[in-house]
Amino acid sequence: MSFLRSDLLQLKAYVSHPGGATDIPVDILDTNESPYDLPVELKADLAAIYQQDIATNRYPDGGHGPLKTAIAQYVNQSAGLTADSITASNISVGNGSDELIRSILIATCLGGEGSILVAEPTFSMYRILAKTLGVASQAIGRNLDDFSMDLEAAQKAIAQTENPPVRVVFVVHPNSPTGQCLTAAEIEWLQSLPENILVVVDEAYFEFSEQTLVADILTRPNWLITRTFSKAFRLAALRVGYAVGDRALIAALEKVRLPYNLPSFSQQAALLALKHAEILLSTIPEAQQERQSLLENLRQLPMVQVWNSDANFLYARLRPSTKPQEPQLAQLVTDLKAQGTLIRHTGGGLRISVGTPAENQRTLIRFINPVKSVQS
Ligand SMILES: *Cc1c(COP(=O)(O)O)cnc(C)c1O
Repeated sequence: MSFLRSDLLQLKAYVSHPGGATDIPVDILDTNESPYDLPVELKADLAAIYQQDIATNRYPDGGHGPLKTAIAQYVNQSAGLTADSITASNISVGNGSDELIRSILIATCLGGEGSILVAEPTFSMYRILAKTLGVASQAIGRNLDDFSMDLEAAQKAIAQTENPPVRVVFVVHPNSPTGQCLTAAEIEWLQSLPENILVVVDEAYFEFSEQTLVADILTRPNWLITRTFSKAFRLAALRVGYAVGDRALIAALEKVRLPYNLPSFSQQAALLALKHAEILLSTIPEAQQERQSLLENLRQLPMVQVWNSDANFLYARLRPSTKPQEPQLAQLVTDLKAQGTLIRHTGGGLRISVGTPAENQRTLIRFINPVKSVQS
């Protein structure tokens, strides 16, 4: 395979559910999706649209016009902005926000022009996609008490990284896998970055945190917000994400994406989801309450440390969180999987999605004995 790029040799393909399939029914709590499928009435509506309005012999709408307009409206509404603040020209739509991350890297750093900066633990896709494109990345750490970024280290990394310099800083608001929104100090630092650095704020979990920095887009040409239909809007299967930014930046993302990146069916599904946003988002209060009660219940286990979360998942480590615990965490994930609950071992801890009340009840019960046994 000597025709392959040599730097791809050390790269492993991304696995969404590591460890393979099981032969028992499982609670899927390792990918942070909504536990609820689209309501059957909406599925029926979508099926009718498919039958009546989608000509499968024709390419999809490559301009995503109606969808961008509907997204802009939702973005304004969700941030309390006036209806003409964010318009279709401020929106780019991707095949999941993963595609947008790749477009961002292509438009900014490709060809040795820039490096990216992330604070770990964070969403792994930024560095994975950077690697596949031969883009260099810098990682700094976080403070263990609240997982806020080590801003001194971040500042230093930006000052000292040359050939190529840092061109993009990726942050998640709230962060995955740790669950916290950006702090006031972090936001202030991001706002202080010079205009030759792009700030990408990933708001994949916005509907659960109800906190957004979208208003910053109006005054900051070097900021981009990304969001997705994969989490609160229950459309993970259909791969729709979007970016909100200055129109010149959006135009650059539009140049590098594939012309027909989003199937007609996915575009129609996202439009339908926005039309019925109120119904789809009506489960958010339950998710927030379940998050809180799962947190309080897990905190009853003295050997587990669990952090506050603004998202639809919790992050946990074993106490003391400074001791090496990777084998124990891996064992816990295996034990839970054998009992029928999938959670994710990532970033030196466990990320547990908030599911239905019944799933969360099972998570708790299934956690208790394995946690006690790995501890002893
Ligand atoms: C789930 C998630 C996404 C969503 O990615 P899609 O490609 O839109 O499904 C983006 N960012 C973060 C941090 C996520 O956790």
